[in-house]
Amino acid sequence: MSAVGATARPVVFRNGLVLTMDDAHTVLEGADVLVVGDRIAGVGVGLTAPDGALEVDATGGIVMPGMVDTHRHLWQTAMRGYGADWTLTQYFVWYYLEWGKVFRPQDIYAGNLLGGIEALDAGVTTTVDWSHGLRTIDHADAAVDALEAVPGRFVLGYGNIQAGPWEWSTTPEFRDFIQRRIHGKELGFQMAFDVTGDPSFPEKAAFEVARELDAAVTTHSGVWGATGDDSIRLIHENGFMTPKNIYVHSATLSADSYQRIAASGGSVSVSTESEQSAGQGYPPTWVLRQHGIPVSLSMDTSVWWSGDLFSAMRTTLSADRSREHFEAHAKSETITHHALRAEQVVDWATRGGAKALGMDHLIGSLEQGKKADVVLIKNDASPAMFPVLNPYGHVVFQAQRGDVHTVVVDGRVVKADGRLVGDDLSGAKQKVGETVDFLRETLGEQAWRSGMNPDIPQTTVLDNPYQYTDFATGATHGQQDA
Ligand SMILES: [Zn+2]
Repeated sequence: MSAVGATARPVVFRNGLVLTMDDAHTVLEGADVLVVGDRIAGVGVGLTAPDGALEVDATGGIVMPGMVDTHRHLWQTAMRGYGADWTLTQYFVWYYLEWGKVFRPQDIYAGNLLGGIEALDAGVTTTVDWSHGLRTIDHADAAVDALEAVPGRFVLGYGNIQAGPWEWSTTPEFRDFIQRRIHGKELGFQMAFDVTGDPSFPEKAAFEVARELDAAVTTHSGVWGATGDDSIRLIHENGFMTPKNIYVHSATLSADSYQRIAASGGSVSVSTESEQSAGQGYPPTWVLRQHGIPVSLSMDTSVWWSGDLFSAMRTTLSADRSREHFEAHAKSETITHHALRAEQVVDWATRGGAKALGMDHLIGSLEQGKKADVVLIKNDASPAMFPVLNPYGHVVFQAQRGDVHTVVVDGRVVKADGRLVGDDLSGAKQKVGETVDFLRETLGEQAWRSGMNPDIPQTTVLDNPYQYTDFATGATHGQQDA
């Protein structure tokens, strides 16, 4: 990470409402957070700051740990919003079968650069780049070049949808890449691939490489029609379920699979906006809670959705409650008390992500000695930022990324007064623009338009036995008119 080694000026946030997200979820009012070097030097009321420290007035704002996104296909940021009306099937056809293979290394670079900057702007200080467009080592080098150019904390999830994981993970070029770009570097590393459920378990070779590299495996699981219980069973029966594994979505699994995940200590990365729209299955926190499976949050891809964890927290809390009410109503019961609280989803967006990545000792909470990844949510110009009465509820249901005032990563200010600092946003926009031009030309105008505008299935409005009134004339229409 490029922020490492930078000699940053000390920073002190003054007089904020501080959500520490420590074990006790301590909340401090009128409190300060002091950052010295790359560490949090103190959290409390009336701290003494070193001479020359940057003073940030947090009055009226909420200070919280930087958020952690455990699954984001950053390279797809270059096609932001293009697939807003897609289903998962259309996504697979577009990226996996038809057009993913035309992306060049510079296109991966462009998407990663813009997506990485976007994450910082939204207060997401750690992102897992679930990078499954790495069809050559040049693409992988480009992905890492971009991550290193953004002053955030990143984990590269190495993947390649154009080849089997047993193919790309066992080449000398891949080993060389690990030596050159990962070993001894600040950049985190995971292996990102899916397990199809093929009984011969060809993915075994890739799991063995991950084991040898001591790398976590992140895998899309419980995706309706793609990766189901067979995938989970094969991973388990072959001895590759470790506490490091991250199971993305896990929305369509049996109790048996959830039990295997729970018993192995693995965690699930929930992408509620994705699951609600693409069709992996119902966002699973309501069932993960029943099995005691740890949760982290993620935004998946901005080819469809937003790239900020405010959306993840809001949709996740809402989807969980929707399901609780829905299940109760089916039994003619009423939910009078919500089981899932705003406080818990803020935990999932911060500490939960840190735990899933095995980085809990470094990030995820505001505690003395931890790495200084700090976010101030404050917007004096916004009516929605006053009054702040219930801070967790405010973060989840009131705040949005435009309210992210200051962001510190590894002790370095990367956003101040609502503006990004020290990044190359205009350069990133230019590079993404070049990628968009290239793709549009490569696809041709017809494919470009039809890809963005899938056919709408025929729907019919149901017959209605009741009449309706024409309010303009007072006339009643219906069978009696006949
Ligand atoms: Zn995904």
